[in-house]
Amino acid sequence: MNTATELRNRLRNIDHKGYPAYKDLKGQYQFGDYVLSIDYVQGDPFASPSRLSVRVEKSKAGFPAAYYDTPAKRITLQDHLTRLFGRWAAGGSFQAKGSGKSGLLSVSRCGQQVLERTALRVKDGNIILRFEAGFPANGRTINARELEKMLFEILPDCVRKSLYYVKIDQEKLRKAICLCEDQQYIREHLKERKLCAFIADGSILPRESGVSEKPMKNAVAFRSPESLQITMKLPNRGEVTGMGIPMGITLFVGGGYHGKSTILQALQNGVYDHIAGDGRELVITDASAFKLRAEDGRSVTGVDISPFIKNLPNRKDTTHFSTEDASGSTSQAANLMEALESGSSLILIDEDTSATNFMVRDGLMAQVITPGEEPITPFISRVRGMYEDLGVSSIIVAGSSGSFFHVADTIIQMKEYVPIDITRKAKEAAEVYEGGHREKYGQYAVDDSRDTDRAGVAGMTGSYGMEVFPAFNRKRCPGPDIALRKDDRIKMKAMGTSELSISKENVELRYLEQLKDQEQSMALAYILKYVQLKMLDGRKDLCQIGDLLEEQLDGSGLESLFERGDVSAQLARPRKQEILACINRYRKLKI
Ligand code: ADP
Ligand code: MG
Repeated sequence: MNTATELRNRLRNIDHKGYPAYKDLKGQYQFGDYVLSIDYVQGDPFASPSRLSVRVEKSKAGFPAAYYDTPAKRITLQDHLTRLFGRWAAGGSFQAKGSGKSGLLSVSRCGQQVLERTALRVKDGNIILRFEAGFPANGRTINARELEKMLFEILPDCVRKSLYYVKIDQEKLRKAICLCEDQQYIREHLKERKLCAFIADGSILPRESGVSEKPMKNAVAFRSPESLQITMKLPNRGEVTGMGIPMGITLFVGGGYHGKSTILQALQNGVYDHIAGDGRELVITDASAFKLRAEDGRSVTGVDISPFIKNLPNRKDTTHFSTEDASGSTSQAANLMEALESGSSLILIDEDTSATNFMVRDGLMAQVITPGEEPITPFISRVRGMYEDLGVSSIIVAGSSGSFFHVADTIIQMKEYVPIDITRKAKEAAEVYEGGHREKYGQYAVDDSRDTDRAGVAGMTGSYGMEVFPAFNRKRCPGPDIALRKDDRIKMKAMGTSELSISKENVELRYLEQLKDQEQSMALAYILKYVQLKMLDGRKDLCQIGDLLEEQLDGSGLESLFERGDVSAQLARPRKQEILACINRYRKLKI
């Protein structure tokens, strides 16, 4: 380990030299209370900035052990400190001057979600902070005085004000940890209470705009219908009331523009924890929930979609279905089967983004086009089996089709942004309506219902899904993409949350609505590379791959994707659902 004085001497030696002389600075330096590590030095002042890290020992950082004794609290602490450092760094950025990115000081920008990031890691109380700095130059000539100012004045000030417990606003941090404990309490109690989601009264669900995740101002606050209201006794906030959405099948209906999609979006984001002031802090959804939608054009590799699609006119095998360009319905079927494979126990669907022929077929159509002529068994016929046989719940927004009344356990009408429980009224109406139709058209083809209870739930019609959810093949064991293994300079890039590229191959992510952060996309690129190079062997199935990765990331973090020392500072952890979805969208997947 070098001393800080050594760094100062080196800086003075290379002043006014050509930019590459900066490379000599790589190394570790003891700065009083912390170690500064210069991990990567940029090639010129216009290239992507240099990567640095700061390590503060536990004894010096001094954060209470109770703030990092569970993964969730540790991630909250990390998130809080990243934001703090980010705020000070923004003030110190470009204080040192020069050409190109000279003087830049930056760390990951955290959004509304609390995510695990490589930017800052608390490990046994020690802190590692990773950030970027633009080493100053005039033209391409080193300006070492300015870097000296950055590393000896600006940075120490930012570090001091954000990574030492005695120096920060302790009350703010305490509140963030308390919120995290409350959120985890709700998460842990969902299952026990047989719920798949909880929305606290007073939550603000709509966002400011299509491009801002900030809460909408003057929005109608959420209020649970009485029949669905439950009380949770949170460890810090105490008693909180709100709507508990029971496991099973829940339907949101209501006129256009009454807030249906908004509530569903809040639920799909509820797989993450949100920061205080977001409005969705106490909107908590089953963390495995998957937003299911149509995705025309996606590639599908060897997915068993036969529970939904069979007997295609071209006799294509739907138990091992592959296509470069899926249709609306086949893409949605594949998305669903992959979600089941990834272990999701809650499926969220908005009719706005679904393929109609995947979702429903009305009775009249079923009479005219007989089952033998129609390859699609619609979702409505499978949704009950999915719950009864696989334990997978659904929350469905369907404002235009009353057919779902038959299969739903809970029916909620959104009326001017306020939810109303209309389960009984809708069920009764459905029964009367169905009776009328039966008189007119005679009985529909009746499935062989296995138990009378289930027949009772949707008993007014025989045409909706009393069948057992068919067995399907979950064991898909991809082999590696050999070309990628041979490539010794794999380049990766992420374009927001909409796309990533690996060795010039693009992977579309834009329809993975629960991918929230560009750093998650970048992490997906690294994970895809890691999976392709180190994990796929034609024997492990994707489910196992997902579990192995989870275990690795839980234990050793995203850092474990890297050979020693070369960790990217700009990755955020995606969920297993998005990881598997990304692998599944890689067009060179080989199964
Ligand atoms: P739907 O899906 O029923 O057609 P949306 O969820 O798209 O309706 O909502 C329609 C509009 O109302 C959106 O612009 C949304 O931002 C706004 N909105 C939703 N919920 C609220 C609320 N609680 N308070 C105020 N505005 C809301
Ligand atoms: Mg809508």
